[in-house]
Amino acid sequence: MTLPPRAIDNLMGVIDAATDEMVDFTAEMLRIPTVNPPGDAYVECAELIGRRLDEFDFAVDYVVADGRPEHTPTHPRMNVVGLRRGRSERPLVHLNGHFDVVPAAAGWTVDPFGGLVRDGRIYGRGSCDMKAGITAAIYAAEAIRRAGIDLHGSIEVSGTVDEESGGFAGMAWLAQQGRVSADRTDAVIITEPTDTDRIYIGHRGVYWFEVTTRGRIAHGSMPFLGVNAISQMGVILDEIRRRLLPALGGRTTAAPVMPPGARHATLNINGIAGGQPVDGIQTPCVADFCRAVFDRRFLVEEGFDAARAEIVDLLERAARESPELVYELRDLMVVHPVRTPDGASVVSALDASVRAVLGRPAMLAASPGTYDHKHVDRIAGVPNCVAYGPGILDLAHQPDEYCVIDDLVQSTKVLALSLLTLTGSR
Ligand SMILES: [Zn+2]
Repeated sequence: MTLPPRAIDNLMGVIDAATDEMVDFTAEMLRIPTVNPPGDAYVECAELIGRRLDEFDFAVDYVVADGRPEHTPTHPRMNVVGLRRGRSERPLVHLNGHFDVVPAAAGWTVDPFGGLVRDGRIYGRGSCDMKAGITAAIYAAEAIRRAGIDLHGSIEVSGTVDEESGGFAGMAWLAQQGRVSADRTDAVIITEPTDTDRIYIGHRGVYWFEVTTRGRIAHGSMPFLGVNAISQMGVILDEIRRRLLPALGGRTTAAPVMPPGARHATLNINGIAGGQPVDGIQTPCVADFCRAVFDRRFLVEEGFDAARAEIVDLLERAARESPELVYELRDLMVVHPVRTPDGASVVSALDASVRAVLGRPAMLAASPGTYDHKHVDRIAGVPNCVAYGPGILDLAHQPDEYCVIDDLVQSTKVLALSLLTLTGSR
């Protein structure tokens, strides 16, 4: 089917005309403090989104993650999904946004939950990450309806919880329940903030692990009678500094990770504790334990098995250098890297739409951190997935977070055009 150019112009005009409505709806969401942790006010926000989807002719379902331990009477984990069927069920395009936000933290000059609109911007915690993205998804779909364009496939829009804490009761739950799955879903766009012209095609892998060293307690005046677990951890940290970090820094992924510094493999020491608490009363004791948590980000080219084996080797080498070293390695979390396959239709549709709306090509990028893409790829089995949406990624989790209203409008246009392409309606 081919739509005449004036139908497209009309669609763009419908979105321009909805600007105030979109700003108001975003501000309304921002006034609900869906802070995670602990996961506040999820039901209120899910219902706000659900009511809007219902008004816009979607069939709305609330999907409660009642099988998850984090779903509690005080903090229920409620997701919302709306489906609008076109003339045929497929292709089905799913637009997803998480409505949980990280805590406001310090440094704000405006109310983080006030929904302030000023100087062409909407301020608030979650404005770019990612309540504006939810607005863009809903209004991209609605604009197609208002423009009177005959929808061929189907559009689904979801608002999900807990992305900031791993997404297990959110997108992972929808995927486990089969609501997003290869059996019914043809493409997924997660409307995270991607600076309006970037398409995120995946992310690096994550391996969080904990190393504990065990020593032997003795009187601190005679440390030679014991084994100091902190010193032993020092041996491991020295191995990391001298050998591992240079090796990681020398590895570069072919994935277009932004910022470029994150194109290398990295390791962060999240925290360390050992011996007696330093702010308590001190006693003369040799530290008999030390524990540290590490955050290793690995490249799609490395893979998890190799990344872990390298840590095991490092610990064994440290133990050979320091015969008194006794250690345990415990895996805390693994997220495998994902990458949208070359030639994925969701990438070409968005790229063409970015060109049409912004007059420049889209930039393909990969994320240094992870987001719900992993669940869509790994659990739902839908590799045709990217992130694209309004908002400046660097402002996410910052004080005075805002979304530029013009970006919200432009991204909504890009999403609307992409929906037409991906549902076979143009
Ligand atoms: Zn986000």
